[in-house]
Amino acid sequence: MDLESVKSEIEKVIITEEQLQTRLKEIAKQIDNDYVGKELLLIGVLKGAIMVMADLTRHMNRHVEIDWMAVSSYGSGTKSSGVVRILKDLDRDITGKNVLIIEDIVDTGLTLDWLSNNLKSRGAGSVEIMTVLRKPESAVVKVDVKYVGFDIPKDFVIGYGLDFNEKYRNLPFIAVLAKHMYE
Ligand code: 5GP
Repeated sequence: MDLESVKSEIEKVIITEEQLQTRLKEIAKQIDNDYVGKELLLIGVLKGAIMVMADLTRHMNRHVEIDWMAVSSYGSGTKSSGVVRILKDLDRDITGKNVLIIEDIVDTGLTLDWLSNNLKSRGAGSVEIMTVLRKPESAVVKVDVKYVGFDIPKDFVIGYGLDFNEKYRNLPFIAVLAKHMYE
């Protein structure tokens, strides 16, 4: 979906499609270099990570395995609940695997802190994190994120996998949602 179709619903675009893809190419190259000679399992966090998983993996020049988890963090509002619940678990055992979690956004850090500890407790060989976006001002817990696309202010953003009431995931850019859409 293009910018024209949502112009009255967004405040502004903060990361363009081109900026996103350029940064993802750089990160894909870094991951290629960091995991030379090692097997790699990418675990995407549904539903927000669908776009980044599709694009990042196609920028990579190596074999990867892909699995998905769904966890609940937000309800239908725009504030983090801090409650994490597994809605869909992994398909396979991850004992000894080099795991790279693929996320859309790190806000308070509560979801990823919980998730990375959960995967470590299952006996993964290593657990690292890649996120498209991070909001440093919102951090409640410190999470070690190895690959960050962009640090952004703490406004509520949509697009490129990120939703508001399940809409806007199919925008190819990241935008701040207009306040009149939720206030
Ligand atoms: P955290 O646990 O780090 O506070 O939140 C992580 C989850 O909250 C993300 O995976 C995402 O689903 C949601 N979230 C946090 N900030 C935003 C935002 O600005 N926009 C959207 N659409 N979701 C967000």
